[in-house]
Amino acid sequence: MNYDNQNIFAKILRGEIPCDKVYEDEYALAFKDIDPKAPVHILIIPTGRYVSIDDFGKRASVEEVAGFFAAVAKIVNEQGLNKNGFRSIANTGVDGGQEVPHFHLHILGGGPVGPMVSKAG
Ligand code: 5GP
Repeated sequence: MNYDNQNIFAKILRGEIPCDKVYEDEYALAFKDIDPKAPVHILIIPTGRYVSIDDFGKRASVEEVAGFFAAVAKIVNEQGLNKNGFRSIANTGVDGGQEVPHFHLHILGGGPVGPMVSKAG
């Protein structure tokens, strides 16, 4: 899948659409999900143009991958989520229910977030 420059997170990265920012550096931008599914629901996205987690793993440089996950560690620490834990989710493609085609990690926490997934079928 080719990267779509008009996806909503690309527009947020370019500052064309506002977001409730919680963190930003060279490698990652983090902001609150517009429709939170937990008391804390943050989206962390790489600043580079990657469609999905596997696209990121395939094409991103070692520096970008390290920078992105270092940002994840900083953010969960700053949010106090590393004390009681959190869930990270990367929905991918049609079966994964991915709505926005720019790789993003959902960080959910601030209380128990429930069972991981409901049973298929
Ligand atoms: P996905 O289903 O692709 O894994 O998740 C996309 C997420 O982006 C959803 O949880 C949705 O609520 C969130 N989202 C969609 N549009 C916007 C937006 O304009 N701003 C913010 N902050 N979140 C958005």
